[in-house]
Amino acid sequence: MYCGERYGPDELAHHTEPVHCGRCITCVDKPECFSCRLMYCVCDVHRYRG
Ligand SMILES: [Zn+2]
Ligand SMILES: [Zn+2]
Ligand SMILES: [Zn+2]
Repeated sequence: MYCGERYGPDELAHHTEPVHCGRCITCVDKPECFSCRLMYCVCDVHRYRG
């Protein structure tokens, strides 16, 4: 559980399936919904957009 959101079975992969992004050591293998707060994160999937 990374985002704290409730989710249905259709969103299961989005919240639980590890993404092997590999470019940022903080967010590698975290699910898609994880937001990386690292200031210099280079990951397209997890980079925090806020
Ligand atoms: Zn989630
Ligand atoms: Zn990432
Ligand atoms: Zn990152």
